[in-house]
Amino acid sequence: MKFILLGTGPGLPNLTQNQSGLYVGVNGKNLLFDCGEGTSQQLLKHDLAGETLDAVFISHYHPDHVSGLFMVLQMLYLQSRQKPLQIFLPERPAFMMEILQFLYTFPPRFAYPIQILDCHEAELYHEEVSSALSDHLRGYTEFITANQLPNPMNSYSFRIASEAGDLVYTSDLGTMDSIMNLVRDCHTVIADAIHPEAGQVLKLQYAGVKRILLNHGISPELERALAENPLPLFEFAHEGQIYSIEQ
Ligand SMILES: [Zn+2]
Repeated sequence: MKFILLGTGPGLPNLTQNQSGLYVGVNGKNLLFDCGEGTSQQLLKHDLAGETLDAVFISHYHPDHVSGLFMVLQMLYLQSRQKPLQIFLPERPAFMMEILQFLYTFPPRFAYPIQILDCHEAELYHEEVSSALSDHLRGYTEFITANQLPNPMNSYSFRIASEAGDLVYTSDLGTMDSIMNLVRDCHTVIADAIHPEAGQVLKLQYAGVKRILLNHGISPELERALAENPLPLFEFAHEGQIYSIEQ
């Protein structure tokens, strides 16, 4: 399996990082997890545009994880892509067709069919991909309840299996505890290092994993803890680097 972090930046944009995006090549498939701003350029840079991608998985609907999707779909349309594209969404998939219509990117005009699916169905279509709901969006509970909003607060983490070892992409998290069953004994974790408390991220050293890539920025608390007590399992994720998990 090989993977490339197309965007390692936090939700607050900066000049040196793109927003969330992860390319994974596994079992002859080309998968994209999250699609923040800058993803279309990153796909071009790494020769992953046109007919390459098989499926896109969106972990949750914060703009730094989904705002690039619309430019990717427009780019593939303008590139005359023909191959069907699956888009796995975290919640309310029917809304996506309305948003595309709102944006004048009408799927019936695309030369490539798009298939809108739900993240919890990922494994049915891709046996190497499993998904688990995390607690990332749970902080909105009070606001959503008080305002009687329909948002289901779904946010997913993903595990991608290969013979040489598995990769977990946590996307954003409230706590590592909420997805510990998904993470345990995988080879590499791409971990949200900014939202969970430092102790939650540091727990990964006991999860039987071989490499922890700190992603999406880093909280001052975690940065301090790792400066005082460096742990070789933990490294910063490098945007654009080609990583691999090999036997
Ligand atoms: Zn985020």
